[in-house]
Amino acid sequence: MEGVLLTGTATAGLEGECARCLDPIVDELDVNLQELFVYDDSKHSRDQGTDTEDDEVSTLEDDLLDLEPLLRDAVVLALPFQPLCMDDCPGLCPDCGINFKEEPDHVHEAAIDPRWAGLQQLAEPDQPDQIDQQDQ
Ligand SMILES: [Zn+2]
Ligand SMILES: [Zn+2]
Repeated sequence: MEGVLLTGTATAGLEGECARCLDPIVDELDVNLQELFVYDDSKHSRDQGTDTEDDEVSTLEDDLLDLEPLLRDAVVLALPFQPLCMDDCPGLCPDCGINFKEEPDHVHEAAIDPRWAGLQQLAEPDQPDQIDQQDQ
C-alpha cells in the first residue's frame, strides 16, 4: 500500500453566541474523518508524474501522522454559518434590544414605522382630498 488510510469520528466542543439574540451557546460537534496519509517515498515518486495539489497530500512523518490540519478543516467545514441557540430563536427587539425569548409578549404600543406614517394619513376618514387623488 502507498500509505495509511485513516477513518474515524471526532467530537469537538463548541462555544459561541447565538447570531440572533447573542445568548451563549455550548454545543458538541461530531465530524467524520477520512484521509489517506501517504508514505514520504511514494509522495516523491508521485511528484514526478503530477506536480499539482502537492500541498493537499497528507504525508506520514516518520511513523507519525499529523491529525491537526485534518481535524481543523473538518470542524471548520461543519461549523454552522449562523449559530442559533434554537432553530426558531425570535432574536432581539429591534427597538429596545430586549430578548424576545425571555419576554415573548413584548410589544411597543406606539410602534409606527415612520415609513408607513403616510399610509396612515390616507386611511384617516377626515382627509377626503388625498383619498380622491387616489381614486383618479
Ligand atoms: Zn438565540
Ligand atoms: Zn422592544
